[in-house]
Amino acid sequence: MSSPAQWSPVSRVVIFGGTHGNEMSGVALAKHWLKDPSELHRKTFMAEACLANPLAVEQCVRYVDTDLNRCFSEAVLSSPESDKDPYEFKRARELNGKYGSGSNPFDFVLDLHNTTSNMGATLLCCSDDDILAMHMANYLQSRSGNHSMPCYNYLINIPKKDNIYLQNIGKHSLCLELGPQPHGVTRADVLTRMKELVNWALDFLDLYNQGEEFPSFETDRYRVLSRVDYPRDSTGEISAFIHSELQDKDYVPLKPGDPIFTNINGEDVFYEGGTVVYPTFINEAAYYEKKVAFVLNEKVRWKVPALKLASAADHLGSH
Ligand SMILES: [Zn+2]
Repeated sequence: MSSPAQWSPVSRVVIFGGTHGNEMSGVALAKHWLKDPSELHRKTFMAEACLANPLAVEQCVRYVDTDLNRCFSEAVLSSPESDKDPYEFKRARELNGKYGSGSNPFDFVLDLHNTTSNMGATLLCCSDDDILAMHMANYLQSRSGNHSMPCYNYLINIPKKDNIYLQNIGKHSLCLELGPQPHGVTRADVLTRMKELVNWALDFLDLYNQGEEFPSFETDRYRVLSRVDYPRDSTGEISAFIHSELQDKDYVPLKPGDPIFTNINGEDVFYEGGTVVYPTFINEAAYYEKKVAFVLNEKVRWKVPALKLASAADHLGSH
């Protein structure tokens, strides 16, 4: 049996809302916790809330000049400040300075998002070896039981140095992507679910800090394979739309020959891949500009080792 992974306590935790200014669950929660942070208090630490893109929140738009959640590249963070910089470049440097490697990186980053896609409570990791985040995801999933907004483990595996997402500035991170919810709209069911998940995430970190051992487990992870654009005409205009049989079928197996798009005359386009895949971000409103109609994923079985905080005795090498 492998011994539990050895980690340090988690004391500095930040919860970002409004990374995208029109994703209203995180916006509402960050604003609430900035006014009254009492809910973020645990026995072993106190998390802090941050409104990541306040100008975009003020205008209720995804971003002002450019997508903040694509600004955390080495190139942007290390380049000198310029008057011509998009607002989000400046904001990314500020956030990195306060919470990221610009100073002493925070131990855990939670980044709160909504999607217009039917993705339930998607728990998004950017690293395939963040054991702490995987255990947190497993804890959220176990505690959720048969919730109507189920948890899915989602993996966009990017080397840390190439990662451009906000969550990457912490030592460990998880992004909560809840939907469906239209951008600019607050749905009470989605808001309540997000509040619950954040509270449970903090409970998990508190248990971990207190020395609780989390046994090894196996789980399914959805790992990104590719992104699919809409069919387009010769001028680049979208010429077909998400098929009604694909709409809202996030995480439902997509088989070769299944319909994926339909045009205004009712002519269908079929999936021509050779294997069963799992689509996500189907018809996500914010991805039209990114030329993504949906994302294709594979489902992989993942074994996660046990987790326990190293005790003082472990540090001294006693058995
Ligand atoms: Zn978002």
